[in-house]
Amino acid sequence: MKVAIVGGGPSGLYLGLLLKRGAPQWNVEVIEQNPADATFGFGVVLADTGLLQLREADEASYQALCAATKQHEHQIIVQNETPIDIHLPIKGGAIPRLTLLQILEQEAERAGVVVHYRQRINDLDGLVSLGLDDADVVVGADGINSVVRQAFSEAFGTTTSYLGNHFAWYGTAKVFEASALVFRKYRGGHFVAHYYAYSDQMSTFVAECDDATWQRLGLGELSDTQLQALMEEIFAPELDGATLLDGNAKTMWRQFPVIRNRHWSHGRHVLVGDALASAHFSIGSGTRIAMNDSIALAKALLACDGDVAAGLAGYEHRHKPSKQKLIAASERSYLWYEDMARWMEAYSPEEFVYRFMTRTGRVDDARLQREYPELMVRLGRAGSMA
Ligand SMILES: Cc1cc2nc3c(=O)[nH]c(=O)nc-3n(C[C@H](O)[C@H](O)[C@H](O)COP(=O)(O)OP(=O)(O)OC[C@H]3O[C@@H](n4cnc5c(N)ncnc54)[C@H](O)[C@@H]3O)c2cc1C
Repeated sequence: MKVAIVGGGPSGLYLGLLLKRGAPQWNVEVIEQNPADATFGFGVVLADTGLLQLREADEASYQALCAATKQHEHQIIVQNETPIDIHLPIKGGAIPRLTLLQILEQEAERAGVVVHYRQRINDLDGLVSLGLDDADVVVGADGINSVVRQAFSEAFGTTTSYLGNHFAWYGTAKVFEASALVFRKYRGGHFVAHYYAYSDQMSTFVAECDDATWQRLGLGELSDTQLQALMEEIFAPELDGATLLDGNAKTMWRQFPVIRNRHWSHGRHVLVGDALASAHFSIGSGTRIAMNDSIALAKALLACDGDVAAGLAGYEHRHKPSKQKLIAASERSYLWYEDMARWMEAYSPEEFVYRFMTRTGRVDDARLQREYPELMVRLGRAGSMA
């Protein structure tokens, strides 16, 4: 079997690795527009619950990822200038996105996957010069602006819409002790910073505001440099003199695209990761959701005995229900953030944190009591199941 994977992000490299481990005789090639030592963004959160699925799929990469992950034990939520400290019950932490990719690349290449770096394809004709146009399977692992998806958007039943909130993905050389969410009112606007350390040198710092704030304060008129200076001013107490850094192109201020596809494959073309469904960053799970798609697709292809159509149908049929649960959680989470101004005005810090913790519907009071007993005491809800 010959498999062409467009996109050498987490989903593409991981899929290549799993396929080659399962079928060393297959020809598996990944096409990536960036050089091997470059990517967008800074560090990403990898929570323990997601990591366990990676362990089952491939022990070597799981061990390497764990070793490079900076653990987080606490999260602080600041609302109305009141910090509430949350002891995190599950292990997990954050990893530089580049390290994550380098680990996957190393494991993939060790397994025999060919990775073509600095090869951007603008449409599927771009596969010809690489000798991959006759691949049995062409995988769109090429993220939010997927060219594989765009080539057949009608057949995939693609829908794209944009959230109202505006955000930018910065980094900073300040190493925060705990991960945090700081909700702050500033000149009548509503802002939030999501930040966490992902190495002993760097932290991720995502800044966000709602659309009403963006319009009222005329933020669309400001340059990226001015916006960055404004965030440094708003979050000066946390940054404590450290500056924000913008990374590669994807750090500019933008609105999050919600991408969905009614069908996951079309002929020999199939989608995984953000190309298939963009998972909002506020649940800190987009990477592992994308890698879970790769696990499911690899299983389906390895079991299909050369019947690609059956393999791709099986991938969608078996994996869709669990993927939809996570995507639904991501949707409830971003809808909560879309309304953050309302919650910031309406709730006490304790009520705010309670509403935040239960926003996706995946955590109820019983789970809070079990996993966050100290927090429930702090919120005045210990023993209450209301
Ligand atoms: C601000 C922000 C914060 C986030 N924080 C987290 C977090 O804490 N934890 C988490 O798990 N997730 C997080 N995410 C989400 C996560 O980054 C994505 O869900 C994840 O990267 C999806 O992986 P992917 O492989 O599907 O796509 P991508 O990571 O987008 O990879 C796609 C790859 O394809 C390449 N490519 C694209 N087009 C072409 C082309 N035409 N030719 C060749 N190559 C191409 C790209 O260069 C890229 O390497 C965050 C996202 C954002 C925006």
